[in-house]
Amino acid sequence: MHQPDPHKLSLNTATVRQQWTLAQIIEGCARHDIRGISPWRDQVAELGLLQTSRMIKQHGLTVTGYCRGGMFPGNDEAERRRHLQDNQRAVDEALELNAACLVLVVGGLPAGSKDLSGARNQVRDGLSALLDYSRPRGMNLAIEPLHPMYAADRACVNTLSQANDLCDELGDDGLGLAIDLYHTWWDPNFQQEITRAGSKRLLAFHICDWLNPTQDLLEDRGMMGDGVINIRAFRQSVEALGYIGFHEVEIFSRKNWWMRDPDEVLRVCKARHKEHG
Ligand code: ZN
Repeated sequence: MHQPDPHKLSLNTATVRQQWTLAQIIEGCARHDIRGISPWRDQVAELGLLQTSRMIKQHGLTVTGYCRGGMFPGNDEAERRRHLQDNQRAVDEALELNAACLVLVVGGLPAGSKDLSGARNQVRDGLSALLDYSRPRGMNLAIEPLHPMYAADRACVNTLSQANDLCDELGDDGLGLAIDLYHTWWDPNFQQEITRAGSKRLLAFHICDWLNPTQDLLEDRGMMGDGVINIRAFRQSVEALGYIGFHEVEIFSRKNWWMRDPDEVLRVCKARHKEHG
């Protein structure tokens, strides 16, 4: 299909989190006929898990992912255990929300460490331990590779290839990938690695645009169509492989989209998804 299915648009709540509470975002999605939503844990905690679940059901929204688990590495066993327990709680919350997956930002270097390969081993071990918890409960874990500029502080899994390697090693029952174009569009092996993943591992697809120049490494993501990513081509590639999930708009934008009227932001998201998604 040339144009995207408009009913496949999902809103990552970070996109309007500066302007609206989660309750307002849920109602906003319903009002704008955006059928998917991906909420963040802190917002859910604020509204209350059961109330969030109730409101999402009431408005008939699909939870395309739950943001987020991960942050596995730690300086000692006790710290890693705390992280695992927190991730187990995130799995329980994702189940209550009937989320398609728990999105994992796996974590970077523990404080003070320069041992990147050690951190990557800790991610593998933490993920393995979390799978022991999530698999019998039926919650999918989606590894989100992050752009290498976040390797130190957010995620030391930086390519689709690394994420696929983890799926190979740990088994892809209940384990797959969240593909965020902001983090992966530059990868010369993109096509090869999504083909290797196949539709079974493609659990989530996040879209926004890469602005050129980018002013801030975290909070200057662009609206679809304002940057240099050929979003439509990437979307068609994942769908050609059998991906049938949502297209989740996730924009952190301190100086632009977070300053605007959120109803306008949602209108623009819909229009740009149709035009560029
Ligand atoms: Zn993302």
